[in-house]
Parts: sequence; structure tokens; C-alpha cells
Amino acid sequence: MFFRYQGEAYDRRFLPRLTTKEIAAMDKEDVLLVLPVGAVEQHGPHMPVFTDTLLGEAMLAKAFEHLPENSSIWLLPSVSYGKSTEHAGHPGTITLSAKTLMAVLEDISSSLARSGFRKLLLFNTHGGNADLLGMMAREIRITTGLEVYRLDPGAVGYSDSFTDEAEKACGIHAGDVETSLVMATCPGWVNAELAPREMPNFPDSRYFSFRSRSFAWVMDDISGSGVAGDATKATADRGEAMLETAGPLLAKALLHIASFDMASLKNG
Ligand SMILES: [Zn+2]
Repeated sequence: MFFRYQGEAYDRRFLPRLTTKEIAAMDKEDVLLVLPVGAVEQHGPHMPVFTDTLLGEAMLAKAFEHLPENSSIWLLPSVSYGKSTEHAGHPGTITLSAKTLMAVLEDISSSLARSGFRKLLLFNTHGGNADLLGMMAREIRITTGLEVYRLDPGAVGYSDSFTDEAEKACGIHAGDVETSLVMATCPGWVNAELAPREMPNFPDSRYFSFRSRSFAWVMDDISGSGVAGDATKATADRGEAMLETAGPLLAKALLHIASFDMASLKNG
């Protein structure tokens, strides 16, 4: 069970628990700030609309348990709302427009730069945010001078050994992985009896590759239930195992990013 504002991340590494004086006094040279960006959007008939934001916080809470005590990595409060326009029209979806999310990210990052910080990581748990965050990472780099990094938890492969090929190909929304994770995180928030299985017919073609985003879709184009994946397979035990796997993998990624030296990119 995940408790917000408890555990290592919130007790020791949640930046806004400090006073302005304490933040002023921090040695910010090597500090990496982690900004979780989630979403509030429909997640099928069985899961809460808060799923993406909840899972971002739960995974980071796990990751922070695996950071050394002296690490310079600090957690920021989540941007709870994302760009979920592909789920608009489904009750409970609360979406920011692309413009609004861009403005929110600009304002947060310029505030961080003014506070003297130098490194920012955008930690994203909603696929619909990914393109915008990729673009904004560079914009923020240009407008604020911050070093900006991107990490989506799927990139560390925490669920690879728990899912079959069909789920890997089609389980992109409210399927086995997300449902198992929410069952492990907040068991009372999932109604497993209502969990559907719906696998979209993603074309197997180099010209219409789903993964490389070669076509645009909204949720109603690919799913009738609001789910893409097999949520009937989900169990709390596997969700717990996925979280336990994610913790050290994400901690390793965070440490790697925190110690990265941008100056090392240039040869000449
Ligand atoms: Zn989700």
C-alpha cells in the first residue's frame, strides 16, 4: 500500500518540505530535481482516473528507497494533470490543452531556474504527454538554461519479464501492467471483476508502426472499452513484484542522469 507523503522520498527528499531559507542554502550545483508528470483520464471500467499520476508517485517512492543517503536527487510535487485530449469525452478525464501544459512546464522550470537549480528531469507516466514533453525539454533548455532530462518508467524495462508478447505489443492503456500496479499500490481503488481484455489490431507494418507513432489515434479509434491490453490477467502480487523491480532500476537511472556531465558531449 502506497501512502502519499510518507516514506524516504517524502521524509527526506521532497523539495517543498523545506523552507525558502533552507532551499536558498542548498548547494545546487549537482542537484537533480525530478518533476513527475501524470494525467487524470479514463482508465477503463475498473480503474481510477488518477492511475497515471498515482503510479508515477508510487514508482518514485520506491525508487527513492534505493538511493544512497547522500544523493543529490530531490522530488517535486507532481503535475497531476496532463494532456489527455485523446480521452476527452470520457467522464472523469480532466485534460490540459497542449498550450496550457506547455505554459505550466515553462512557469515551473523558470521558477526552478530562478531558485538557482540547474538540472531538471521530466518523469512521465502518461503516453499522451510524451511528444509534448520531448519538445518542451528542449524549449526549457533553451529558455532557462537548465539541463533537462526525460525519463518514462517503461524505458527501464521493469515490466518486461512479467508480460507476454501480446501485452508488450498492445498493452498500452489500463491493461495488465497498470492494473497490476494499481492493485499493489491502492488495492481498494480497483474493481477486478470489471477488468476487460481488449487488444487493438495494431498493424504489423513498417509504414504504420504503432510504436513509432506513424499514425494519430484517439482512444475511441482503438478501443471500445477504454482499455488497450489484458486487464483480466492482472494481480496484486505481480504488481508488487513489478514495483520491487522498478525501484532499483529507476534509482540506477536517476543516479546515472544526476551524475551526467553535459560538457562531456563536446569533443572540440
Ligand atoms: Zn495510464
